[in-house]
Amino acid sequence: MNLAAVVLRLTSAGLFVGACAPPATPITATGPSARITRGAPSPVAPASVAAALPSDPIDVAVTVDDLPRHGPDMPGVTRLSIHERMLTTFAKHKMPPVYGFINAQKLEEHPEDRAALVAWTKAGSPLGNHTYSHPDLGHMALSDYLADVDRNEAALKELMGDGKEATRAWKVFRYPYLREGVDVAQRAVIRAELTKRGYRIAQVTIDFFDWAYNAPYARCVAKGDDKAILALKESYIDQAAWALRWADAAARELVGRPVKQILLLHVGAFGALMLDEMLTTYEKNGARFVSLADALADALYTEEPKSPKAHYGNFLNQIRKARGTRSPVFPPPPDTLLDLACR
Ligand SMILES: [Zn+2]
Repeated sequence: MNLAAVVLRLTSAGLFVGACAPPATPITATGPSARITRGAPSPVAPASVAAALPSDPIDVAVTVDDLPRHGPDMPGVTRLSIHERMLTTFAKHKMPPVYGFINAQKLEEHPEDRAALVAWTKAGSPLGNHTYSHPDLGHMALSDYLADVDRNEAALKELMGDGKEATRAWKVFRYPYLREGVDVAQRAVIRAELTKRGYRIAQVTIDFFDWAYNAPYARCVAKGDDKAILALKESYIDQAAWALRWADAAARELVGRPVKQILLLHVGAFGALMLDEMLTTYEKNGARFVSLADALADALYTEEPKSPKAHYGNFLNQIRKARGTRSPVFPPPPDTLLDLACR
């Protein structure tokens, strides 16, 4: 499929209807061309989802990974400006404090990025631990991985403080690549080690591969291809909405109730550009933003999905895999568009 066809397919999706009304109707998790409806149940909605008729808001804690830099450098866009743009947008939407998960190794090569982390904390948003160097657990010894977790703490202490309350605030951990271990046994060991160190684990239930848009966006800006940039923007919003819809459907189907969702974003130029529209889209579709601490109090996050293949990725999807069910089908990334755009 060429890019024009991909663009046509993705931009014809037309996802959203309604204004700021609460989501008093079923949400289907059928794909990017599905609408979030506010009328009769879709004939393709899973029965359990359609029957739930959600009238409550969908609680969503927004989190941001890979501070202070993610994605390619772009002319005229500093890392500080990306952070500031996100913080300004969070304030505009009256969000509770949004956790940013840091890899302090990035400061070795770019000490100037420290200003971005300071801006984050000055805005009242906390920082959490995403390891020092963003290692992949699949390719290293467990002891080295835990040492990498510990090594990140000096920067967190310096930026967030080392008093009792401050330490409790930054002792929140996000797994790089959402990989919890090479298998379920290793996951249990790492969880125990993190708990011993006083960490809470920030799982993710809404993940729409936002990070993958930054590289094609940089290519398209360099080429001045406005049409392709528009396609990326529309795809980004479609994928974000699909992920929200999937997560709510998955909670109802797999857990039997709405849960407090945790959204994963990354601190890249494209995500910062799209953040306002993305948050507005979520609001229009019933999202109510809550703090990460509030979300982590949900009993969902004490679960340990038991399956040989359920030890990484979206937490609700881990539960789905552990149950051995295909439903609801997890939204894939729009690889073709992202691969072909502005090559
Ligand atoms: Zn990361």
